[in-house]
Amino acid sequence: MNDIRTLNIEQLSEWVVARFEKSFRAKQIYEWVWKKNVASFDKMINLPLSLREALKNEFSLHKLTLADKQQSADKSIKYGFVLADNHLIETVLIPSNNRTTVCVSSQVGCGLGCHFCATAKLGFKRNLSDYEMYEQIFIANEESKQHFGHPISNIVWMGMGEPLLNYENVIKAINHITSPSGLGMSKDRITLSTSGIAEGIRRLADDNIRIHLAISLHIADNELRTTLMPINTTNPLPQLSEALKYYYQKTKLRISIEYLLLNNINDSIKDAQLLANFCKNFPVKINLIEYNSHAYAAYKKSNKEKVQSFIDFLERKNLVVNLRLSKGKDIAAACGQLANEKQINDKI
Ligand code: SAH
Ligand code: SF4
Repeated sequence: MNDIRTLNIEQLSEWVVARFEKSFRAKQIYEWVWKKNVASFDKMINLPLSLREALKNEFSLHKLTLADKQQSADKSIKYGFVLADNHLIETVLIPSNNRTTVCVSSQVGCGLGCHFCATAKLGFKRNLSDYEMYEQIFIANEESKQHFGHPISNIVWMGMGEPLLNYENVIKAINHITSPSGLGMSKDRITLSTSGIAEGIRRLADDNIRIHLAISLHIADNELRTTLMPINTTNPLPQLSEALKYYYQKTKLRISIEYLLLNNINDSIKDAQLLANFCKNFPVKINLIEYNSHAYAAYKKSNKEKVQSFIDFLERKNLVVNLRLSKGKDIAAACGQLANEKQINDKI
């Protein structure tokens, strides 16, 4: 049975009209499933009973089931959701001052095998649908109101998976989030993070999606990057750099460069110099990320002195640098820790 949300508004209208119902019923159904995100057809109380029954007989309406919810000492909350096919995904709500950011997953697991990332250990299971991503955000929004007293302010596609390898569904989810018939949020509040899928970056630019782009660069030496991130074999740095230049030319949006500092791997002044060179071709903001340890990789985070020298070097080159301290480490909710230990253990 197809989920009702696989139908767009035109298809819904056709379905409704074929049942000799007025076409405005399609708009009502659409509003129930997206804007109101109801859990069952029975809740669609302004529809005739016969139509609700017909919907039930023909479509499913699979909701994410909350399986786990943990709050960190720093107030971040991690949610574990079970999908209709029993796969597990994780979503994180991160409060800071008067903002709340939701970190969304785009795939079950990830097939790109970055050596420092716990999600990689799951391998790739499947892409998430637009409504599975939309629902993570919808629930996070409700949760944010309840726990922090205001709706979510920002959305980052930095959870499990590589969003540009699930391009169409991610864009559909973004359309629902920004549409008045969905959550009505501004694209300005959305950031997509990618390990560097050059073709996907160009496609985002060509499709005029206009969301903020973050690149998980982590090292600006082409050969070394391949040893950390196998995706670099097919998307080498010169190709990535050209795609980023193209993105900037088309959108005029400054690109965020994510750089994970790994002790003795990418944290020398020579590495900072390479990073500065890479950033010459388009305006950037650099986010230095502290490595979050987990059981599935043996890297260590850089020490304080090295981090400071790295920052000083970049700032002397007039680059904008932020040091991002991770939230949610105590509940394995920080960047690169999303995997769900049970799933990994089941696999090993
Ligand atoms: N696949 C996309 C989206 C996931 S974002 C991407 O890689 O960009 C998750 C972010 O956390 C990425 O920047 C990733 O490189 C980073 N990350 C992975 N493992 C990490 C770890 N152990 N500590 C800190 N950050 C990590
Ligand atoms: Fe996948 Fe991103 Fe993790 Fe790499 S860092 S394995 S691309 S989720």
